[in-house]
Amino acid sequence: MPNATRKQLAYLGTALQELKQQHRYFHLRVLAGEQKPVATFDGRKVINLSSNNYLGLASHPKLRAAALAAIRKYGVGAGAVRTISGTMRIHMDLERQIARFKHTEACVVFQSGFTANAGTVAAILGKDDLIISDELNHASIIDGCRLSKAAIRVFKHKDAADCAKICEETKDWPGHKLLITDGVFSMDGDIAPLPSLCGLAEKYNCIMMVDDAHASGVLGRNGRGTVDHLGCHGRVDIQVGTLSKAVGAMGGYVCGSQELIEFLYHRARPFLFSTSHPPSVAATCQAAFTLLASRGGAELVEKLWENTRYFQKGLTEQGFPPSGSETPISPILVGEAAKAFELTGELFRQGVFAPAVGFPTVPEGKARLRAIVTATHARKDLEKALDTLGRVARKLAIIH
Ligand code: PMP
Repeated sequence: MPNATRKQLAYLGTALQELKQQHRYFHLRVLAGEQKPVATFDGRKVINLSSNNYLGLASHPKLRAAALAAIRKYGVGAGAVRTISGTMRIHMDLERQIARFKHTEACVVFQSGFTANAGTVAAILGKDDLIISDELNHASIIDGCRLSKAAIRVFKHKDAADCAKICEETKDWPGHKLLITDGVFSMDGDIAPLPSLCGLAEKYNCIMMVDDAHASGVLGRNGRGTVDHLGCHGRVDIQVGTLSKAVGAMGGYVCGSQELIEFLYHRARPFLFSTSHPPSVAATCQAAFTLLASRGGAELVEKLWENTRYFQKGLTEQGFPPSGSETPISPILVGEAAKAFELTGELFRQGVFAPAVGFPTVPEGKARLRAIVTATHARKDLEKALDTLGRVARKLAIIH
């Protein structure tokens, strides 16, 4: 067989065997059709509690129409990186629209939230600088920190007192300092103590940066994010958001001062070295922000929260212990990875898709199911999902 693994790569097979033994091996579940609240994965129709499509925008008619119109008008690709000839008017219009929405001077759009985080941190800091980072920050922040070669100090999750201790210990650091946190933490659904962290950044002269991937379209007025939700306008230098979750398409953005954005145009490596979005993606995102800023957008966000309150109350009534989530991300803590995978497998067979996550995505011994409700879930589907979750978890002695 021409593609058989050559012996130089045989160690990968061994590593995969180990993953299997540790219950960390998975196969990709394949979705047929659209990312909807009831969807068909691997040929089975299930209630879908697995997507970040918080507002149902991934298949919204207005976004589809915008994408199709842009394809007709501009074609399917941008053809170059932004800094050569891949900046179309539609890219600039989208950036201006997001900046207006977020009440910031300027915005730059990246190919993904991942590249927005990693590209920004690595661009603005160097080896003489210091990063003070929450221990549960997203992988893209961690990678950006490593790429920057700056020194990294990690504070305990959401612990402003621990962060203050590190700020005090490093107060005479000669280089630049960055205090960085997720706005909403992706595996626990809890919210960063932003006002306290902004206070520390101000006191200790740190740049303040927030990754609002799971807050964009979810928290704040019309989904403007944690800065809006927690009244921190003007106190956060760099706001990152994603266009891949509630906004429904693909991409990431950075909002801040005009100078910050111009600097990123010149120095952020994913911006410089990777082709810009197809025009249809930019058009889709423009339609999403137009919708978000309207009364219809506010109503969708409210519906998301209504469903979240209903679902999380239902989990408690079924006997699941409180998870500490403050957002639609609803973790169902199990503990052992093998048990979490058994639970997710049985639920799937019974028509509910709530994926399990284990180490290294979450700490060892804290495996969980991560269920996410959206604005578009029907009440009867949430009811059925709760009933199935309770029944299967009791059968597997996860709850009693
Ligand atoms: N930050 C956080 C907190 C995330 O959860 C994610 C997505 N998993 C990202 C950034 C990356 O966003 P994207 O999917 O747009 O690359």
